Amino acid sequence: MISALRESSHTTVLTGSGISAESGVPTFREAQTGLWARFDPKELATPEAFDRDPALVWDWYAWRRKLVAEARPNPGHLAIAEMQRLVPNVTLVTQNVDGLHQLAGSREVIELHGNIRRTKCAAEDTRVDVFEDGESPPICPSCGAPLRPDVVWFGEMLPLGALEAASMAARGADLLLSVGTSNLVYPAAGLPIEALDNGATVVEINPSETPLTPHADYALRGQAGDVLPRLIGELS
Ligand code: NAD
Repeated sequence: MISALRESSHTTVLTGSGISAESGVPTFREAQTGLWARFDPKELATPEAFDRDPALVWDWYAWRRKLVAEARPNPGHLAIAEMQRLVPNVTLVTQNVDGLHQLAGSREVIELHGNIRRTKCAAEDTRVDVFEDGESPPICPSCGAPLRPDVVWFGEMLPLGALEAASMAARGADLLLSVGTSNLVYPAAGLPIEALDNGATVVEINPSETPLTPHADYALRGQAGDVLPRLIGELS
């Protein structure tokens, strides 16, 4: 496996919420705690939920945004940033919306599901940086429509440019690492399959089995924050 990484001329790393679990950002599949314990994220992260109860969805994201603002990159994020320095041509594709890869020093991160730190107008679909944060949800200063987090909700299209770039990176890779993702949410879950179809070596890093496991060349069972630094340690 280490030789595949050493010899790779294009490595693509696909990450999911598992890589941020060790930073204290809960995955959707983990039980929520406290105030939000009785809400199912899959019921809140949808356009229908926002239409039905925009204040509830905005407030849930405000809580998640606070969690993310307090979170710091963990050894898994840092190891990927280090890999981008040590190994030529590493493309990072993430399903995460927390911006922790960028904080760890990764550049040109392909964000498939947007970023919770950004806000957009629900009507115009344009990014809004300056607004009055009093009401829940706040109002678009240009058109008066409600503002929403700039993330992709269940049932929504992914940003086309990001999806195309990710697909190209998967098809062009000779090694793909799938880290901390359950490989259940499409189209992201299709990327390792695209890589396999094009002859890449696929490595899964996850403490649990996923639908990708039987197809992967290697399945490294463990936490990303343990496994990735060990891989990088072997490189130098
Ligand atoms: P997911 O489908 O990516 O599943 C999480 C996976 O991480 C599971 O397979 C789990 O076994 C694995 N995992 C848990 N701890 C790990 C660790 N320490 N190291 C490696 N793997 C670990 O993610 P989800 O929670 O089902 O969320 C679906 C979508 O929701 C995401 O793709 C994302 O868009 C969004 N989301 C983002 C964040 C974030 O930005 N941090 C958090 C929650 C949800």
